[in-house]
Amino acid sequence: MNYKIATIKGIPIRVHITFFLVFLLFAFIFTITGWPFGFQHVEPSIVRYILACLTAVLFFVTLLIHELAHAVLAKSYGAKIQSITLFFFGGITAIENPENKRDMDPSKDLNVSLAGPLSNMVIGAVLLAINYLVFGSIFGVPDAANQTAESIGIATFTYHIPTVIFLLGALNLLLGIFNLLPIYPMDGGRVLRAWLAKRTSYEEATKTAVSIGKGFSVVLAVISILTFQFLFAILALFLYISASEEGKMFKAATILEGIFVKDIMTADVVAVDESMSLNDFIRFVFQKKHPGYPVTKNGIVVGMVTVDDARFVNEAERYAFTVKDVMKEIFSIRPDATALEAFNEMGAHAIGRLIVLDDEKNMIGIISRTDLMTAIYLKDSFKEKAKQKEDFFG
Ligand SMILES: [Zn+2]
Repeated sequence: MNYKIATIKGIPIRVHITFFLVFLLFAFIFTITGWPFGFQHVEPSIVRYILACLTAVLFFVTLLIHELAHAVLAKSYGAKIQSITLFFFGGITAIENPENKRDMDPSKDLNVSLAGPLSNMVIGAVLLAINYLVFGSIFGVPDAANQTAESIGIATFTYHIPTVIFLLGALNLLLGIFNLLPIYPMDGGRVLRAWLAKRTSYEEATKTAVSIGKGFSVVLAVISILTFQFLFAILALFLYISASEEGKMFKAATILEGIFVKDIMTADVVAVDESMSLNDFIRFVFQKKHPGYPVTKNGIVVGMVTVDDARFVNEAERYAFTVKDVMKEIFSIRPDATALEAFNEMGAHAIGRLIVLDDEKNMIGIISRTDLMTAIYLKDSFKEKAKQKEDFFG
């Protein structure tokens, strides 16, 4: 549900479908809110709608600047930027760290995390200063709600430009401050984590930042409910969930980073020949009870086939097709790669299994998403056990 809208400095800018909905919501709110936070009073109505849409567009441009600030600074530190995606309440900059390392150096990480919110604060301060210097008030016109007769008509649009400037300035300041709340994975939470990581390990820092983030979102939720700001309460709940999800993801990634592909792969791989008919293949799957198999031609791996690939062909026609007709491209990995690299590789190609090839390109195993999940589960439960024992023996 992503649409690529532009490429800036080689970074693809994508927009998620939810983003359009929020854009309309923002434009709508601007039309029903009175001065100085909206254009409810503006006549004729067509000018009101144009001003509201213009403000919404410009606000989303500043959201993009926020993400670009993260991206450009990370890039200058040698990281690779995969993409920027704008979605319903903000953006995500997908950063790939240099040398395949999961974590950036803490002080660089801190700067990258700060760059986004700071850019909003600078934009906010500059816009409000412009209004102040030109009109003597941050609101621009003293009271745009009292529209004078001569300002109605052609001049209406230009008359309300200071209100657009005020709204953008105020929203940017708010956005900058809000993003700095110490709730991981928001920017403020990342700043906190980077700051903690300078003193301890990234693992400890993430754990602490996640806990502080959860605590903060609970406080935010309670305040929101007590003050009847229910939208904020929903946002706080969302932040709580993202904090705990991010914590779990980090834990899983840490476990996977410490395991090698060769230790968890399935070594005795059963392959099917490319000439096998789909009927025979499905019978074979029922016997072996695995969903996916490498496909070989004269003993060399040429593809990958799963039950789902076979299911695409109508049952009555399966006798006429062979495995070769439906197989997919193979992706491979080295046995000495980490399980985290395998996980990332599967994610990048949206596939469930990789073939393990040695230096001579011989297939020595297969590794699936299930293997990774089992490894996470086992490692985690043994770690818990070890901890319990420690507690028991003092
Ligand atoms: Zn940010």
